[in-house]
Amino acid sequence: MTDNVGIPSRCWCGKGIVTYVSKTEENPYKKFFRCEIGLKRKKEQHLFKWVDEALLDEIQRMHEQQSSMAEEIEYLRSSLKKTVEEAVIEHKKSGDVGLIGSILTILYLWIKS
Ligand SMILES: [Zn+2]
Repeated sequence: MTDNVGIPSRCWCGKGIVTYVSKTEENPYKKFFRCEIGLKRKKEQHLFKWVDEALLDEIQRMHEQQSSMAEEIEYLRSSLKKTVEEAVIEHKKSGDVGLIGSILTILYLWIKS
C-alpha cells in the first residue's frame, strides 16, 4: 500500500521509508522521511516528507476517521432504535409476553438510555 497520507509507510518504488535528519542551513536537525533510493537518485521523485508535517497530517486523518466513526455509530444507534421500537409495537399487537417480550423490553430500555 502506498497511501502516504499522514506518516508514510512506503515509497511508490516499493522501498521502505527511513527517517533522516536535515543538515541544511535552512532546516538544521529537522527530521524527515525519505525513500532510501530517493536519497541516491535525487532526480527521481521518490518520497520525501518532513516528520512534523507528517505528524500533523496523521492527527488530521485520525480526527477525520473519528468523526466518520462517530457518524456511523450514531446511524447504527438510530437504526437499531427504530428496529427495536418497531419490534416492540409488533410484539404488543400480538399480546404475547415471555422471553421475546422481555428481551425487547431490555433492548428498548437500553436504547432509550
Ligand atoms: Zn522510492
